Amino acid sequence: MATEALEIEKIIKNVLMELKVQNTVETVSSEDGIFDDMNEAIAAAKKAQKELKVMPLEFREKIIKRIREKIMENAELLAKMGVEETGMGRVGDKILKHQLVAEKTPGTECLSTIAWSGDRGLTLVEQGPFGVIGAITPSTNPSETVFCNSIGMIAAGNTVVFNPHPGAIKVSNFAVKLINEAAKEVGAFPNMAVSVRKPTLETADILFKHKDVELLVATGGPGVVTAVLSSGKRAMGAGAGNPPVIVDETADIQKAAADIVNGATFDNNLPCIAEKEVVVVEEVADELISYMIENGCMLIHTEQVAKLLDIVFVEKNGKKILNRQWVGKDAWKILRAIGIDADESIRCIIFEGDKNHPLIKEELMMPILGIVRVDDIDTAIETAVELEGGNRHSAHMHSKNIDRLTKFAKAVDTAIFVKNAPSYAAIGFGGEGYTTFTIASRTGEGLTCAASFTKNRRCVMADSLSIR
Ligand code: NAD
Repeated sequence: MATEALEIEKIIKNVLMELKVQNTVETVSSEDGIFDDMNEAIAAAKKAQKELKVMPLEFREKIIKRIREKIMENAELLAKMGVEETGMGRVGDKILKHQLVAEKTPGTECLSTIAWSGDRGLTLVEQGPFGVIGAITPSTNPSETVFCNSIGMIAAGNTVVFNPHPGAIKVSNFAVKLINEAAKEVGAFPNMAVSVRKPTLETADILFKHKDVELLVATGGPGVVTAVLSSGKRAMGAGAGNPPVIVDETADIQKAAADIVNGATFDNNLPCIAEKEVVVVEEVADELISYMIENGCMLIHTEQVAKLLDIVFVEKNGKKILNRQWVGKDAWKILRAIGIDADESIRCIIFEGDKNHPLIKEELMMPILGIVRVDDIDTAIETAVELEGGNRHSAHMHSKNIDRLTKFAKAVDTAIFVKNAPSYAAIGFGGEGYTTFTIASRTGEGLTCAASFTKNRRCVMADSLSIR
């Protein structure tokens, strides 16, 4: 009886959740920061920024605190909406990602001041806002990026206009609505974060060219990063990666296997930082593979790999491109699509291949890990640098040898380098440091936070105010 009551309660909760999703999506309006017209959205954000910049930092923090609470209150709903709308990722992991954003995205504490004080007075360099920022967000972490960008940008005194991914518009705009609700609930004005009902390449173009937009921040693949960098405005590009992970013979192989599988399967490999291929030295390759299998991987062989290749890429205009149908999907579903009756407990597909194999060279964002066997550490480093592809994004390594870790870190020169842990330690999940969902790999800001969205201003008082 008790179990039945629990079941009924669960069903009612799910139905209510569904209704809430429908309502929240259908009723958004300019009251919630969602505009029909991009020019109107920018005008509203400009008005809001004028008000925000004269408010005390304490007030910005009050708004941010309420945004954090809203994210926590709605984490499950946002995770379900994200998976339902995009068809990608895992609800449980997306809940964790939202909680991470709420808890570990820095606010105003990230801003700093430099001071010189001496005989000729006091000089400060302070970090001030740009004004209105135009932000492009991805489908892979849609609401996470909207929240993370908004917290950092508002903390720095900016307002933000989003042009979200059209394939994740409902959940992205719901996030914008929650930010506006949070502001209203603490007595602030609306429109510190705004968006458009129907984002397109045309609305993005208006954003890129608008005189009132001072900075562009693009989180996505190479196309959008190149587009913002060609806009003529100051721009930050948080682009694609293809993070390799090296395992050498000095590593704790059992732990390395568990860490790699945990990192690579988190949200079905959607995070740009996630392990996307393994380079392992021959001496420990079999051991690593056997531990990976213990951790829920299925090892597939030549014929099955060929079938996988056939579904993961599709032909378009004479070119093989990534088949979006399988991005962020469960490993067992991909396996069943190639005729393998896989159990739902299979978390990841692994296979051995050459470094030039398309399933290894390309960023797939699927729980598929190609494994490249090499003779020694020097070849491993050379191979991994090649596979990272010059994205300068993320790379990982399992080794107890400090010289080798240092050598790879220098050679690969990425914004993120995780040692002896799953890739997500890089964003403060099981590792120290703050979180972000915008890693400006192409333009060099690295893991963005409020300070990244500021301009330096020097404020000089000559011959006074120094009390030394
Ligand atoms: P995507 O490139 O398809 O889309 C990203 C955004 O750019 C969307 O809003 C899209 O509408 C827009 N866009 C694409 N081309 C554009 C153009 N020419 N002009 C204007 N807007 C354009 O990416 P996605 O599939 O949503 O996300 C996955 C990609 O993003 C992966 O390559 C991943 O590595 C990368 N990513 C990087 C980071 C990072 O912090 N570096 C974070 C998340 C995702």
